[in-house]
Amino acid sequence: MSAGGIVPRQSFQEAARVTLANAQMRRNLGHATTTIREKRLRAVSELPNWEELRDEGAALKDHVLANLGDYLLDLEASVKRRGGQVHWARDAAEARGIIADIAASHGAREVIKVKSITTDEIELNAGLAERGIHAIETDLAELIVQLAEDRPSHILVPAIHRNRAEIRELFRRKLGAEGLTDEPKQLAEAARLYLREKFLTTKVAVSGANFAVAESGTVCIVESEGNGRMCLTMPEVLISVMGLEKVLPTWQDMAVFLRLLPRSSTAERMNPYTSFWSGVTPGDGPREFHLVLLDNGRTDVLADEVGRQTLRCIRCSACLNVCPVYERAGGHAYGSVYPGPIGAILTPQLLHLEDKNANTLPWASSLCGACYDACPVKINIPEVLLYLRGKITEEKPLSAEAIAFKTAAWVMSEPHRFEGAIKLARMGQGPLVRNGAIHALPGMLGGWTESRDLPPIAAQSFREWWRKRPAPEMRGTDGDAQTSEGEPIAPQREDGVPL
Ligand code: SF4
Repeated sequence: MSAGGIVPRQSFQEAARVTLANAQMRRNLGHATTTIREKRLRAVSELPNWEELRDEGAALKDHVLANLGDYLLDLEASVKRRGGQVHWARDAAEARGIIADIAASHGAREVIKVKSITTDEIELNAGLAERGIHAIETDLAELIVQLAEDRPSHILVPAIHRNRAEIRELFRRKLGAEGLTDEPKQLAEAARLYLREKFLTTKVAVSGANFAVAESGTVCIVESEGNGRMCLTMPEVLISVMGLEKVLPTWQDMAVFLRLLPRSSTAERMNPYTSFWSGVTPGDGPREFHLVLLDNGRTDVLADEVGRQTLRCIRCSACLNVCPVYERAGGHAYGSVYPGPIGAILTPQLLHLEDKNANTLPWASSLCGACYDACPVKINIPEVLLYLRGKITEEKPLSAEAIAFKTAAWVMSEPHRFEGAIKLARMGQGPLVRNGAIHALPGMLGGWTESRDLPPIAAQSFREWWRKRPAPEMRGTDGDAQTSEGEPIAPQREDGVPL
């Protein structure tokens, strides 16, 4: 469990085969992503300076990444000045240990959690359970996932793959909420009743962080339900976990991201709840505040010139909602808490390209570029995908696929070889052609025809047709007609008689 919830247990291709067979999940996902896509476009088009804002966001993040060490030290000093404590975690296991130790030192048997993908990344719930501490999710979607003993499938809407009827059934079974309809209001009320008691009785809370300001030591969370605010203010002890890249230099920088994030994620002008907290204040909020700064592979990503831009990500999920592969395969196919286009580049980098399943994620893309267009901080996801594909291929021993492509390159580099190969293939394809198409190729090539037909090689190639056709009439640079050999043709009348 050391690398945490980012390690896929299957290749993307194997996992996607399973998820694609779930028609209900695809319907739920298709409906949700279509709706949010349209809303986001409307929200974004309201801002005339949206493109400048994206540029500003990207430039700010690049500046932070270029000076990350300095800003993190500033943040640490500011948090301590405000009465907070700072912990540095090299990896998921260390982060889990730090958080579990703090909770245990307060005798906690339960902690409440505000939605945080970073805590999912480090598999915090399982780590706490090993120490006899039960983590209770308070975000509605995370609670649904937890009660269903399921896994999140979206960064922002972890239960996007479930519909209301499924949730009503789940609440009936797990919360004993009988007589529920699938009205959102009733479902929310059932969750509220369950959570209210937890808010009032739990002493330790764990949160993530969307941003942290180095100059003041202020941590920020944006959310839609208000449950996060309850977690951040009511317990006696608050532990916040954040990836190293979430730091921002100043409050002014925060303003840029508070405009970029809500429109990109929930398609709102401003998210309903934005909470800020700085250290501890006597008589107000938690009496103890801990900030855990998580590396878990991030400094290695930072060291890579092309891959570094991945750390600009503000986890808005806009790239997921526009991705045709995500929409059909669903979040579980990625096997990591980071699904979709961002997951396809972040997960393999955090795992150092060594993981044989994470290695398959850069191929989970049609390279259509929709993710790049949608990303509020202009991460060139297709560029990083291709870069990672290249690196992974270079590191692999020469595979049958690589040999086949090398041979194809050799054949195609000489016209006579290419023509010879086409003639051979035309002769050899006979037994495979049925009703004008090839429905199944043999052996390793079979993958090509698993979900599509291959048109057979034409009876005559373009080159053959070109050679057989009558020599065309051509015109010289002076406008005189010429034969194909360049001989001038005497000017003629329309009936062919020379003038
Ligand atoms: S990569 Fe860009 S679009 Fe995708 S989640 Fe991150 S910031 Fe949002």
